[in-house]
Amino acid sequence: MSNKPVRVRFAPSPTGPLHMGGVRTALYNYLFAKKNKGTFLIRIEDTDQTRFVPGAQEYIMDALAWCGIMPTEGPGIGGDFGPYVQSERKEMYRPYAEQLVKEDKAYYAFDTAEELDEMRERAKQMGMPNWQYNHITRTTLKNSLTLPQDQVDALIQNGAPYVIRMKMPRNEDIRFEDIIRGWVVVNTNNLDDKVLFKSDGMPTYHLANIVDDHLMEISHVIRGEEWLPSAPLHVMLYRAFGWDVPQFAHLPLLLRPDGNGKLSKRDGDRLGFPVFPTDWTTSEGELYSGYREKGYYPEAFINMLAFLGWNPGTPQEIFSLDELAEAFTLDRVSKAGAKFDPDKTRWFQQQYLRSKSNAELASQLKAQFQREESEEQLEQVCGMMKERATFIQDILTEGNYLFEKPTVYDEQTISKKWKEDSSALMTEWTAILASVNDFSQEPIETAFKEFISSKNLGIGAVLPLFRLLVTGTGMGPSMFEIAQFLGKEECIARLEAGINAVETLKTNA
Ligand code: GLU
Repeated sequence: MSNKPVRVRFAPSPTGPLHMGGVRTALYNYLFAKKNKGTFLIRIEDTDQTRFVPGAQEYIMDALAWCGIMPTEGPGIGGDFGPYVQSERKEMYRPYAEQLVKEDKAYYAFDTAEELDEMRERAKQMGMPNWQYNHITRTTLKNSLTLPQDQVDALIQNGAPYVIRMKMPRNEDIRFEDIIRGWVVVNTNNLDDKVLFKSDGMPTYHLANIVDDHLMEISHVIRGEEWLPSAPLHVMLYRAFGWDVPQFAHLPLLLRPDGNGKLSKRDGDRLGFPVFPTDWTTSEGELYSGYREKGYYPEAFINMLAFLGWNPGTPQEIFSLDELAEAFTLDRVSKAGAKFDPDKTRWFQQQYLRSKSNAELASQLKAQFQREESEEQLEQVCGMMKERATFIQDILTEGNYLFEKPTVYDEQTISKKWKEDSSALMTEWTAILASVNDFSQEPIETAFKEFISSKNLGIGAVLPLFRLLVTGTGMGPSMFEIAQFLGKEECIARLEAGINAVETLKTNA
């Protein structure tokens, strides 16, 4: 690596919400900057006014903030290299395009959209479906390379619309080394003369992107693989201006869970998982769901994303953001597409939920769901239920019977465990339980064990019945803990009601 300070950027176009692939790009930039004591900035690339979507920029900033990966330079943040929104830098770009024209590295092209469409159509009919404006066709088109100088001047003078196109040299190999993909070699004969400056007075993405990366002193361009085909042109542009070429790192695509193709924005809700960090509603009122609103913790989302295309080379999977920054290197980013795994994503969420203290979860429950229970009660609930939950709200749904009497009784437990003498057995157990004075876990457990051994029965024959009657379920945390939590009176009431309910079910069956 050179000695230049590390400066990296995330350069989204505000054309809609930020796909999780975009968040991963931002994350890797953030981690790389942190690891190398560099700067991570955000630049909004909004030169294509036709694709501008109101609210998208705010969405992007809000999503990065939720993820905890805010840049230190950018719109609304400040920095010495602003403005950080390209439409606000509009005036800066034309002189660069003009400079290239002067140096015969670019040219004015006056062909109208209709004329170009006609060319394309004619070529198609002649069996050439991929017509391009390139080093061959430019010699017969309406541009400053073919028209006499006075005619060019007159056209410009008279306000004829024109674009500025890159004059791709013939038959030159462009080589650059991508940190992830290794050497890339492309011959200029395979590249077209891309538009650098549009007739609407705006630069294209290509020109604005490299001018800004140069002016903002970007050392490493870390971005999605979909930009790899543009990289040779970008390298040519840097060289045309005589600027240092930043190092490139093109990140692998995110693939659908079945590995079949790119993970697109429509996949999420179709396949049942979000592809956006936070909810987004289109102007037509269509909702795309987000991780935040689904109840994911940003730490879990980020941890999962970090592993989509990167691994630390050790078995460790749970990483805080700081640990990720410490461990992250671009040479451990893979070339191959990264398959998104919704189950693994839920697993990360579970791990983060479990790692929180009961007190932390309890206060989250209280704040989020306005629960009436005391902090202490909620802490006990969290202690019992967090191993069975993925999201905080699952603690309430999974542990519903801690707050309300059961109304249904697990059929499987009834058919497998409820025998003819169960009613009598459980009535006897109810009486014993009623006589336990210190109604806490251990004495309840002792009484239970004494009871089953006096009956010569195993735990497996009696405990499921106890659980069934008190909670209605066939599985859950320690019954002794549940009993203590509910208290004697409630337990006895539930046992009595449960015996009647199950017996009725049995007779009616
Ligand atoms: N504006 C491009 C995008 O929307 C940025 C590509 C790049 O990082 O160079 O992804």
